[in-house]
Amino acid sequence: MAQRILFLFSDTGGGHRAATNAIIDALKLEYPHEFETTMIDFLRYYSPPPLQYSPELYPPLSKMKPMWKVSYESMNGPRRARAMNRLSYPYLRKSAERLIKEHPADLIVSVHPLANSVIPRAMGRNPVPFVTVVTDMVTTHAFWYSPGADLIILPTQQAKNRGLRLGIPASKMQVLGQPVSPAFAETHAPKEELKRGLGWEAPVVLLVGGGDGMGPVRRVARAINNSELPVSLAVICGRNEELFKDVSELKWKIPHHVYGFTSEMPRFMKAADIFVTKAGPGSISEAFICGLPIVMYACLPGQETGNVDYVLDRNAGMWAADPDSVVEAIRYLVEDETARIEMAQASTQLARPHAARQIARALAQQLGR
Ligand code: UDP
Repeated sequence: MAQRILFLFSDTGGGHRAATNAIIDALKLEYPHEFETTMIDFLRYYSPPPLQYSPELYPPLSKMKPMWKVSYESMNGPRRARAMNRLSYPYLRKSAERLIKEHPADLIVSVHPLANSVIPRAMGRNPVPFVTVVTDMVTTHAFWYSPGADLIILPTQQAKNRGLRLGIPASKMQVLGQPVSPAFAETHAPKEELKRGLGWEAPVVLLVGGGDGMGPVRRVARAINNSELPVSLAVICGRNEELFKDVSELKWKIPHHVYGFTSEMPRFMKAADIFVTKAGPGSISEAFICGLPIVMYACLPGQETGNVDYVLDRNAGMWAADPDSVVEAIRYLVEDETARIEMAQASTQLARPHAARQIARALAQQLGR
């Protein structure tokens, strides 16, 4: 019988689902037909209210940045995180036990910060190996690091250092990179050919607000449209249908393409010339693999703050605090080809295109492969 791997994620943003899909795809490539995989949005289906509404609450709550920052920081120390985990366990225990009972597995993998304390505890006397794959890049929350995990897989050395400071032994941590779809490494067609296939005209600015179309995407699109820059603009609105409608209805003056949620990010990103994004870890890691200069226009306080510095310190991109600054950043990259090429090369230097496959191997190892 195939060994069973249960992945726990949640649709709080698009990153946890994308990372989980990436690992599952990599497992299929590395070990065809050897594992049976299941992915569960544990917050939606196995949490008491109000936690079960997290996927719906995430976009509006993350817009309230000062409040988000305070609540993120208030639980982000070793003692505070431990206290919170202890206090919340009685409230979460039943749902977690039901989850484990209804989805028996040989290995449980968490791809979300909120599963890491409760699940190892709820496994009780017959635990199976439990692995956490951390999908925030640098300023990682204390909730990611549970002493109950057998292995914690991290995207960067900075994230590992954070674990060391929180008391996790080095032997329980491996830095393997951010899991992104193996399709990014496997899309080899030349940029011009990809552009032609999409009906795009060069140079193309690709504008994305994560999986949920978050941040001031509409205002940024409008500013680029009004800038008279010699670019075309592709806007990906993700699951935000209102944004899709608003952006589609702009009075367009430049060549443009507006999309809803797409499963073709590898093709889109390999075809683009400049990437404008909120500082999501998935999007940034994908941009590295595609060798794109990154203009970041928004950042979730706490978990995404470190991503901005990570990109800036390595000259792989620029921070643009408002739509006008985004336009200026694009102007700079369009007018100064050397700067654009240098930034694209710096971005490529940070790429870990095989991270998902390495993570798949580390998981298989937990199952004795
Ligand atoms: N994404 C996608 N289709 C879309 C928009 C986004 O597949 O239409 C993916 C994107 O490629 C990335 C993820 O959603 O893998 C977004 O993750 P990120 O960490 O950047 O931000 P989040 O949405 O989690 O805040």
